[in-house]
Amino acid sequence: MKVYSDFQKYLQTELADIQSAGLYKNERIITSPQGTAIRLNTGQEALNFCANNYLGLSDNQELIQAAKEAMDTRGLGMSSVRFICGTQDLHKQLESAVSRFFGTEDALLYAACFDANGGVFEPLLTEQDAIISDSLNHASIIDGVRLCKAIRYRYENADMANLEFQLQKSQAQRFRLIVTDGVFSMDGNVAPLDKIYELAQKYNAMIMVDESHSAGVVGRTGRGTTEQFNLRGKIEILTGTLGKSFGGAIGGFTTGKKEIINLLRQRSRPYLFSNSLPPAIVGAGIKMFEIIERTNELQDRLHENTQYFVKKMKSAGFDLKPTQSSICAVMLYDAKLSQEMASRLQDEGIFVTGFYYPVVPKDLARIRVQISAGHKKEHLDKCIEAFIKIGKELDVLKS
Ligand SMILES: *Cc1c(COP(=O)(O)O)cnc(C)c1O
Repeated sequence: MKVYSDFQKYLQTELADIQSAGLYKNERIITSPQGTAIRLNTGQEALNFCANNYLGLSDNQELIQAAKEAMDTRGLGMSSVRFICGTQDLHKQLESAVSRFFGTEDALLYAACFDANGGVFEPLLTEQDAIISDSLNHASIIDGVRLCKAIRYRYENADMANLEFQLQKSQAQRFRLIVTDGVFSMDGNVAPLDKIYELAQKYNAMIMVDESHSAGVVGRTGRGTTEQFNLRGKIEILTGTLGKSFGGAIGGFTTGKKEIINLLRQRSRPYLFSNSLPPAIVGAGIKMFEIIERTNELQDRLHENTQYFVKKMKSAGFDLKPTQSSICAVMLYDAKLSQEMASRLQDEGIFVTGFYYPVVPKDLARIRVQISAGHKKEHLDKCIEAFIKIGKELDVLKS
């Protein structure tokens, strides 16, 4: 097979390049459920500070029970897409729960938010229209935009002067959609939705917010950026995931104006041509919304934990990016230092990830800490102590 041997050589070179650039991703293997305290296949126990498990629900017993019950009463899987024979009462209940939670008119479910974003633009907009997208938007938004014929404009991250400029440049297009992440995953900053909304009003544009990192986190009750900025019901499109705050399993959704959702049900390709979410996931999702609407305990604890962590880390002399979410970027600037620090923290039983170029800009390497409602005070203290110990050893503390 000459063809494959040539291709194989090419792949080997690519892989070697990834390795030598220090960008090869090795997977650490967990042998326990996901949670604040985890066990690895090496036998090591660790406190997890790098999961998107913001509300600590990934191993929640009530959700696991709800998943089992749904599996017992509705089976394993749907063997179909939604419009053929893949819609159960549970799917409709979860869609109602999503729109109730976000204060929107309707919602539809996808296998993941990656699919929600992949399937949202192409059915709605044509070459007569424009998409104006934040430069730090998630990969799935970038891919979704690529599948759509609308003219593309890009504005610098959360830069309102630049957004206004792009709105002026795109004025000839029929419909215009501003697209932003609610929380940007590397800095933890919230999109300035109040200002985006003002500009959208001024220039007659619509807005889509991807609430993946903000849902459950931002706003007093975790209802995301529209709660934070008092814009509930006013944003045309929201997308989000069930894979982060909302239980951490899998699944995505698009929610917003009813005609938009209705047209997506007719034309969105990942919705039409991919299997329905399985009953267990849907049952757990319904229960999850019940839990976080019943009490604000988890959201409150998440906010308290985040404030506690940020305050202690700052007073210890760490350089933290200002965060408006539960993503705390501990700035180290140097790529090698970020890797060294993350690896030494892991030896101390603290699971975090160091990020450096090209994931973040050059010379802005950092360790990203993600706080959870599941962290107890002693977990936070242990993490902070480990940071201080290694921080001193590596001389990264401001005096
Ligand atoms: C995680 C994330 C996604 C992908 O969500 P999945 O449900 O895991 O596919 C999409 N958008 C943003 C902003 C995210 O952070």
